[in-house]
Amino acid sequence: MTEPAALAPLFIRVHAADNVAIVVNDGGLPAGAVFASGLRLVEAVPQGHKVALLDLAAGAPVRRYNVVIGHALRDIPAGAWVHERLLQMPDARELTGLPIATVTPPAMAPLDGYTFEGYRNADGSVGSRNILAITTTVQCVAGVVDFAVQRIKAELLPSYPNVDDVVGLEHTYGCGVAIDAPDAIIPIRTLRNISLNPNFGGELMVVSLGCEKLQPERLLPPGVIPISDQRGVDDKLDVVCLQDDAHVGFMSMIDSVMRQARQHLEWLNRRRRETCPASELVVGVQCGGSDAFSGVTANPAVGFATDLLVRAGATVMFSEVTEVRDGIGQLTARASTPEVAQAMIREMAWYDHYLQKGQVDRSANTTPGNKQGGLSNIVEKAMGSIVKSGTAPIAGVLAPGEKLQQKGLIYAATPASDFICGTLQLAAGMNLHIFTTGRGTPYGLAACPVIKVATRNDLARRWHDLMDLNAGRIASGEASIEEVGWELFRLMLEVASGKKTWAEHWKLHNALVLFNPAPVT
Ligand code: CA
Repeated sequence: MTEPAALAPLFIRVHAADNVAIVVNDGGLPAGAVFASGLRLVEAVPQGHKVALLDLAAGAPVRRYNVVIGHALRDIPAGAWVHERLLQMPDARELTGLPIATVTPPAMAPLDGYTFEGYRNADGSVGSRNILAITTTVQCVAGVVDFAVQRIKAELLPSYPNVDDVVGLEHTYGCGVAIDAPDAIIPIRTLRNISLNPNFGGELMVVSLGCEKLQPERLLPPGVIPISDQRGVDDKLDVVCLQDDAHVGFMSMIDSVMRQARQHLEWLNRRRRETCPASELVVGVQCGGSDAFSGVTANPAVGFATDLLVRAGATVMFSEVTEVRDGIGQLTARASTPEVAQAMIREMAWYDHYLQKGQVDRSANTTPGNKQGGLSNIVEKAMGSIVKSGTAPIAGVLAPGEKLQQKGLIYAATPASDFICGTLQLAAGMNLHIFTTGRGTPYGLAACPVIKVATRNDLARRWHDLMDLNAGRIASGEASIEEVGWELFRLMLEVASGKKTWAEHWKLHNALVLFNPAPVT
């Protein structure tokens, strides 16, 4: 193995008006390093961290992405390290007087001819995987369902070669909660809509305890039960109730779950992949373990791919309220209609209030890892996060846990927490997930493939069997944003057609985490 050639000292300035730039070189740069511009570092600066491009007086605005990410707390000389302890963070923008649908969207030519091999469902949706999901109404049944799932995988699944997997939709909700509180609608509709995810083929199966607050009929009322693909008739909800008098002994419960599972496996096994236009992709994008490269490599490449998807007629969701809050003016301006802009403001206001109740604000978002990776505060992090949304007009807004009703670029309001964001995007109907990371996380979902994009060469090299695509090549000049964006688009079509991601290869997945802003009892 030869070590990659060391780069000459290199920084990336995102916008010509920026007075800071980030250091590209692996391992950072020592004091005295000289850039091509002639700028000399007056102290060591770690990789991904900011260097002052000119002398900044105390109180001066510090600009990155042509946005004021803070004000200097003291005089900072050119060539110095600009870290979070030197910056005063600006207040969040008020949610009044925002530009509403003022941006004329760039002309975007339709992108035709791209297809993938997917599983078409009776309701018109398309799955990228063929999975038996077992919905649970309450945490009490989780151990039993887990036991049953292991047996189903070992004893039944080998007889149904067209079915990819069996997944228990386990969660911590269902009882011990104030189920009539207004905000309880969020976890309930999330769980309902996840059960209807296109990757599950409309084969609903529920395991209930019996005495829980979230009764099966409340979770899945008759109006939402899908018409099964092959059967063409309204299904009665299939519920195995553990407290049913017919159950005598634990094994009789397991036998009931396995008997019902076998029926659904029979139907799912008849599904076949067929050629579908790229417009049937429903892609959720998010980032986690972000660093200062996220906003200049992986997220811009995702933004380019987002535009390709929108041009192809597909659906793309971006999310993570606290990571767009500081860019709300950009987003309301990009709304396709005043109603969409107002819906976005409504979601921001709801979240501001939610955070206030906990006596925090959006600045609670950043992690120690973000700061080590060079992100000084949430303003800087948000500017790098928003670029995942590309340049298309924002066509619609979803509140947490709602299901998609339209195509195009959608703002799906969710917490930025990786697991909660992924869970809510699954509920919206996501059939493919894109996840960018700079610090590195082995994140995965059981219900949907997750393509992980590394922001840095160093991460991609060390985590070569966990990262699916390396956008770090953009920083080192080996590839352009457009090239990596096209690679990601093509990889999406392959993965949606069945190609396994690294997380699927290793069977890595995180728990579903329902967003429950309502009280527990
Ligand atoms: Ca996240």
